[in-house]
Amino acid sequence: MTAVSKTLLFGTAGVPKTAPGTSTLIGIKHIAAIGLDCQEIEFVKGVKMGTDTADEIRKKSIETGVHLSVHAPYYINLNSPEMGKRLSSQERILASARLAHRCGARNVVFHPGYYGGDPPDRVFDTIKKELLEVASILKEERLPVVLRPEVMGKRSQFGSLEEILFLCREVEGLQPCLDFSHLYAREGKINSYREFHRVFRKMEKKLGEKSLKDVHIHISGSSFSDKGEIKHLNLDESDFRYDVWVQVLRDFDVRGLVICESPYQEKDALMLKKLYLTG
Ligand SMILES: [Zn+2]
Repeated sequence: MTAVSKTLLFGTAGVPKTAPGTSTLIGIKHIAAIGLDCQEIEFVKGVKMGTDTADEIRKKSIETGVHLSVHAPYYINLNSPEMGKRLSSQERILASARLAHRCGARNVVFHPGYYGGDPPDRVFDTIKKELLEVASILKEERLPVVLRPEVMGKRSQFGSLEEILFLCREVEGLQPCLDFSHLYAREGKINSYREFHRVFRKMEKKLGEKSLKDVHIHISGSSFSDKGEIKHLNLDESDFRYDVWVQVLRDFDVRGLVICESPYQEKDALMLKKLYLTG
């Protein structure tokens, strides 16, 4: 299912907890059975899947109509002072992208890196340079995947909303992964109709209206301190205003994938989908 979604789809990060097994294939079947639409395959601890499995996943995704995305390994730092680490970070993104394509997943989400005490504008330039190289390799290999640098929740991590939007404007083939619990944790705000509205307005202004028709969103409740995010919570245990958030998604007619990362992901994903369709 590599096509752009014509509507807003809801799903889980990884295999749903209530699935009768832990494989991605079982996860996809379960997503379809419980009335959800998409699943993010988690390569967060490493890209270890075999190509045979990837082929089966692609088949299952087409058969069920479940859209897929991929999350690249956490161990990526495109701003590492060591060139070897920057190159292996590039390699992890490339490996995720190649396997994502084989699975039939279109979006590849990743965490770009850390400031490590460097000035943010220099970090921006370094990360941009690394991603230009990654994007040109993907272009050479004709892999039609969309790289999605994620808005990050800790202030030590590169990835404010502005940085991510600007990066996507500067590097062809990039689109943002908007993580609203990260955004809330990082800023200590962005939890009202007006603020959610501003986020999408900003994205529209920086990346064009078409970016709103092809989003990749992460959502969950979260607890945070002044340094940013601490942990994920179920939506109804958090103070996140998902009711007005859903309203903004509807008002902008946003399309693409919403991946729920709450501890009990499928319950929240189903609740949000219902709210979106009926609210
Ligand atoms: Zn992430």
